Amino acid sequence: MKLRDLGESGLIRKIRERFGPKAGELPVGIGDDAAVIDLPENYSLVFCSDLLAENTHFIRDLHPPDSIGYKAIAANVSDVAAMGGVATHFLISLAAPGDLDWIWLEAFFRGVEQACERFDIALAGGDSASSEHIFIDVSMIGRVRSGQAVRRSGAKIGDGIYITGTLGSSAVGLERLKSGKMRDAAVERHLFPEPRYQVGAAVANQAHAMIDVSDGLSTDLTHIVEESKVSGRIYKDRLPIWPGAEEHHALHGGEEYELIIIAPELPAIVEGIPVTRIGEIIPSGLEHQLFLIDGTRESVLYPRGWEHFG
Ligand SMILES: [Mg+2]
Repeated sequence: MKLRDLGESGLIRKIRERFGPKAGELPVGIGDDAAVIDLPENYSLVFCSDLLAENTHFIRDLHPPDSIGYKAIAANVSDVAAMGGVATHFLISLAAPGDLDWIWLEAFFRGVEQACERFDIALAGGDSASSEHIFIDVSMIGRVRSGQAVRRSGAKIGDGIYITGTLGSSAVGLERLKSGKMRDAAVERHLFPEPRYQVGAAVANQAHAMIDVSDGLSTDLTHIVEESKVSGRIYKDRLPIWPGAEEHHALHGGEEYELIIIAPELPAIVEGIPVTRIGEIIPSGLEHQLFLIDGTRESVLYPRGWEHFG
């Protein structure tokens, strides 16, 4: 069956069957002009969106559709966590050609559903349109304690630079996926990453600055030092490199969805996730830079992660 055979009303019916019950816990969920969400007292809304374009972010014949659905959600959950918040609801807008197989969409929504279960979030609505290529836009809504949103700009001299989990697995997985190798643990982590959806809120009142690793440690940590007008120093031998990954994967690989947390002091484990101190924030001159310490050698670490429009 093709999307055009299903039609928009058929598509909405299928989505309501799959996601309706959870969305039904909202004051107004799927199926009205707009959704309504209650916000607990002393919380602020935090929201973001992510647009995926076919042939730019994914290739229909290479990337499994369930992974595309899962990652579209996971990337946004990670961004909300990086603000010190917790994601709760999302909207999906989908543009797709009429000859798209329902099998593709069914798998896509299965991946979305998997993300809903893992991150305890619910679909609240969306829109659809016809288009030559597939476009997927996810808007994520979450909450953060009022006044506790963690910015990129708050890093202070003497703070520690911390990273959750490990680095490098997604970049290794992408290489293996492109080379047509069998799905192993690295490929699995690239296709189904695990954003630290509970860690961000747990450290929100201790963190001075935070960002998630979506474009690569070197690039995302550079955002922190530039926004905070400081410099940073990290130690090569402290990097929690994923077994099987190399230094360049860990330093520059994107789509890791680990959190970089800048704080005076953090415990070694937060919400069950290991947290490693990899360096510290230092004073800067005119240029806000990163330095990599390798034994007794120190070199400037330039941002060499993913560049949009590159
Ligand atoms: Mg981000």
